[in-house]
Amino acid sequence: MEKSCLFLPKISSYIDNELSERERLEVETHLDGCRECRKELEKMKAVDELISALPEIEPRHGFDSEFARKLEDLETPERTFQAFFKSQWRYALASAAALLIGIGCILYNYMPSKAPSVYEMQLAANLELLQDLEIIENLDLLEHMDELQVLGNI
Ligand SMILES: [Zn+2]
Repeated sequence: MEKSCLFLPKISSYIDNELSERERLEVETHLDGCRECRKELEKMKAVDELISALPEIEPRHGFDSEFARKLEDLETPERTFQAFFKSQWRYALASAAALLIGIGCILYNYMPSKAPSVYEMQLAANLELLQDLEIIENLDLLEHMDELQVLGNI
């Protein structure tokens, strides 16, 4: 079996312009006399041409973040299961909260309020004053107070 040329590993670097000026000249001089390295160079050039002939594909917007998310889901499948139930629970809780608010509003409108409003208290005070005023205006009624109280108790 033919022994591989020691220059072969340098051919790739030569194509990619990664060699120093001195090394590049060494390889070029060697290539004139080494059929194996010339063949390697031709193969690598052909591969380079094929690669550069491929159409460049631009990923659509947000592809990388979507890809990372999908990868994360693959790594932890139980997380998608949890996420499903989490979202289901979220909807259930939101529905329950909306229902409770609705019932609360209905009850609030239909139930009599326990504490009287300021307007109601003012009205009650004015009614008392009005009653007092009527009594003062009809002082003659006071003369028959005893009889009226008896009548009121019946
Ligand atoms: Zn060689």
